[in-house]
This record gives sequence, C-alpha cells and structure tokens, in this order.
Amino acid sequence: MLLDESGERARGLYQKTPVSETWRSVRLMFSYLAIRGRRVRYRYGLLPAEWREAFHEYQRLLARRFAVVSALMGLIIFPFFQVVELWPQLGLLDHWWNHLGWRILPMVAAIGILFLRWRVPDGLWPRAMLILYALSGMVMMTGMVADNMLEPNGTHAFLSKGLVVVVALVAVLATAGARDLILVYGVPLAAMSFVVVRASVAPVEVFLLFIHPLIMMVIGLVMSEVLYRVRLEAFMARQQLEQSASTDVLTGLANRRAFDARLEAEHARCRRQGTSYALIMADLDHFKHVNDTHGHDVGDEVLTELAQRLKGALRTEDELGRWGGEEFMVLLRDGGQHEAEPVAEKLRLAVADTPFHTSAGPLSITTSLGIAVFNGEEMPSMVARRADLALYAAKENGRNRCESA
Ligand code: GH3
Ligand code: MG
Ligand code: MG
Repeated sequence: MLLDESGERARGLYQKTPVSETWRSVRLMFSYLAIRGRRVRYRYGLLPAEWREAFHEYQRLLARRFAVVSALMGLIIFPFFQVVELWPQLGLLDHWWNHLGWRILPMVAAIGILFLRWRVPDGLWPRAMLILYALSGMVMMTGMVADNMLEPNGTHAFLSKGLVVVVALVAVLATAGARDLILVYGVPLAAMSFVVVRASVAPVEVFLLFIHPLIMMVIGLVMSEVLYRVRLEAFMARQQLEQSASTDVLTGLANRRAFDARLEAEHARCRRQGTSYALIMADLDHFKHVNDTHGHDVGDEVLTELAQRLKGALRTEDELGRWGGEEFMVLLRDGGQHEAEPVAEKLRLAVADTPFHTSAGPLSITTSLGIAVFNGEEMPSMVARRADLALYAAKENGRNRCESA
C-alpha cells in the first residue's frame, strides 16, 4: 500500500519532468529578480510551510558536511599545488611567493571551518563559512590568473584550467542553489575585469584565458540549481513517506507506531526529570451496534468525528493517537492524577454531550475511559496495560464513565 503510493508519487514527479518542469526550472533561475512572494514559491515549489523548518535544518546539516569535507580536501590540494609549482619547467617559479600568498586565503578559511567544527556544535556558521571559503577559493584562483596574465601561453593555460576546477567545485558546494554563487562568482569576476582593463590585455588573450571558466560558470549556476531542486524533492519524498507511515488514514491522527514513539520519548524524559505523565484510554460504547445498525461507513464517520472532538478537547502539547480499531489513547504531558481526571471527564463530555452528525442522521454516542498515571518505575507498556484495565472497569461499571487504575 505504502509502496504503491510512493510509486504513484514518483511516477507523478517523473511525468511532470519533461517539458513543463524544465521550463519552470529555467523560469525559476531568472526569478531572483522577481518580487519576494514569487521567489519563495519558486524556491520551495510544493514544500508545505510546516516542513520549511525541517528542510532548513537538513540544509544546515548538509552545509556542515560539505564545509568539513571540502576544508579537508583543500588542506591537501592547496599545499600539493604549491609544491608542484617548484618544478621549474612549469615556469611558475617567479610567482611562487605570490601564489603562496593567494593560497593562504582559502587555507585560513579551511582551518577556520575545522576549528568551528571542533568548537561550535551547530547553528548558522556552516553555510556562511562555506560561502566565505568558496569566495576565498575563487579570489585565490582569479588572483593567480591576474598575476600571470602577461606570461607566456603555457602558464595561462595551466592557471585557467585551475580556475575551471574551482568554478565547478564551488557550484557543487552551493547548498542553497545558484543564489549562493552570485557573490562567489560575481566578486572575483568584477575584480578580474578591472585588472584586465587596467592591464590592457589583447582581446584574444582575454578570450583564451576566460572562455572556459565563463562557460563553466554558466554550467555551475544551472548545476547548483538542479542539485538544489533534486535535494528539495528528495527531502519532500522522504517527509511524505515518513508522514504516511505514522498517520492513521481514517482519522488523520498518529497511528500506533507514531504514538508509541512519542510515548517512549515522554517516558524517557519523565524518568530523567523525575516528573510524571498520564495515559487515558478511550473506547466507544456498543460500537458494534452502530456498525450493525447503520453500516460500517457510518461507523467510520463516527470514528472520524470522534477523533476531531477528542483533539478539540485537548491541549496542543498532549498527544492523541488511534490505538486500535475504536480505541484511542491520550498522553498527558506532566500529568498527575489531579490533572488527568478532569481531562478524562472533559473528553467524556465532548463525546456524550451532543449527538454525532452522520449520514444516517444524528447519533447519540458515548465512550468509556480508563486513566493510568506513570508511577516512576514501570515500563510504558505497563502504564498502557493499567489504563486498559481501568477502561475495562469503566465498562463493567456501566459505561459512559471514567475510572482510574
Ligand atoms: P463495548 O461497549 O464493550 O466497547 O462494546 P463494543 O461494541 O464497542 O465492543 P468492542 O469494543 O469490542 O467493539 C469493537 C468494534 O469496533 C468491532 C469493530 O467492528 C468495530 N471497529 C473497529 N475498527 C473499526 C473501523 O475502523 N471502522 C468501523 N466502522 N468499525 C470498527
Ligand atoms: Mg474496543
Ligand atoms: Mg467499544
């Protein structure tokens, strides 16, 4: 079922890709100039607002990994080239010290990244440092090209290739797509144009030096944007899958699996802090009768409305889940006996007070509820078991009532 759904979704994504998606992506690339609202729509596509924060978190994690890996790579590659340039035949010896000066820039940034990685656990620094690192790499490479602009052609070619490599690498590192590259490509490009004009280099020399780096920049812009979109879509697919695996289809509530996970987490927190939580188990009274009299579909309508009523009667920080067929479980955070009893009564009244609106007309429905408070020792399954026993007692004692374990 789950696989079918994701398969459908994947096919849906795939089918949209050929023309309209490509055209949309091209328009998206140019929409940086457009007003903010449109830009947001373009950048996030179909990403629902409630997933934005999680996506940003994911991007921060990615930036951190990229920053650390590329810093380590840089600290190997930059010294390597500095040593290679000692080879006299390359004709770079005259510029050896200058080049060392240029290479110091990204190396300092790389060391800064590794230092932050070591000292600062989280936050906004990875993306900022990544952009700074990319910028320093570009400045280094364009600086070296400018240094050697008037040297013979062989030297040009060597450094121009280096520029292509840096332009491509930096595009891969742009975690937020092409917008990260505006500064990174723009600043050294502007500085370089200035130098070229001042040095009055022949047009053909300028062409030979810059044609490949410039083309790589265009490719880099498109590539970074495509990579960004691919990551966004992969993130969304993962979120959708996770959501469908933890949601009950009929009521939209947390299913047993998701509820258990939240219960485990709350249990661990209460044990750590020496606080308490309560479980309230609710079961519809004579629900078989509803199904038998009005049909299963009407029974489903009752379950759906019941979920809404229970949810409406709870605080947002409390958890509500579908435990089994027509059994629901409530987790009251920081709840002792004194808190849990009034809440259970409120839930009972939320169901019993007004008839349910169904396609078979208004139906009077009641529930029985069992309360159990965590005693500081037992396992979560034991608390649930005691709530179940209390519920059983409520049924025994005449239904439409609450009992405590
Ligand atoms: P009691 O007051 O003792 O709880 O009586 P009851 O009839 O509610 O008994 P029980 O709790 O054992 O009934 C469970 C019934 O709930 C049986 C099943 O047909 C029905 N049920 C379980 N899941 C669903 C569902 O998803 N949709 C519908 N329509 N009915 C369901
Ligand atoms: Mg039942
Ligand atoms: Mg029942």
